[in-house]
Amino acid sequence: MALAIAVVPIGQIDATILHRIRNGLVKVFPESSCFIVNEQNEVPKAAYDRSRKQHRSNYILGLLQCHARAGIQTANRSLGIVDVDIFIPELNFVFGEAAVHGKAALVSLWRLKPEFYGAKSDGELYAQRALKEAVHEVGHTLGLRHCPRSSCVMHFSNSILDTDKKQSLFCDECYLKATLAISGLENT
Ligand code: ZN
Ligand code: ZN
Repeated sequence: MALAIAVVPIGQIDATILHRIRNGLVKVFPESSCFIVNEQNEVPKAAYDRSRKQHRSNYILGLLQCHARAGIQTANRSLGIVDVDIFIPELNFVFGEAAVHGKAALVSLWRLKPEFYGAKSDGELYAQRALKEAVHEVGHTLGLRHCPRSSCVMHFSNSILDTDKKQSLFCDECYLKATLAISGLENT
């Protein structure tokens, strides 16, 4: 089975950005398919941390893992998209989260909008950032870890500057790993 990604919007997500992510993913991953799940998922209230005024990334990721297990039969990866600020306890925020070799990944759009940094709205820049983070998190689910090359999509983004510096593509080494992982995907 080839790589088949279900993009799962959680909360209100702009349709344009979802389509940009979908179209970008199928170009980056060889012979993959990707579709947007047409269902209403609310951002879980229990994920909200009142003191930090942010949502717990791993709580939402946990729900996505259940979602993935419950089997969107035609997909072997679930990529959740939220438009709320997310964090893991060790960090101030994260752009996304995924377990290495997991089936679920999560991306937050919150800090990808140029407006967040006081810049002018820019749909193209926003879409590119969203695609980079989406490819990065799906890459983790294929077993890839962070890459030291700053232009590789698997480079860790500590800030939006890192995201803007990297491409939406894998370096040769990471691409090889991703391709091998995809070819080894079992039909389960
Ligand atoms: Zn990462
Ligand atoms: Zn790399």
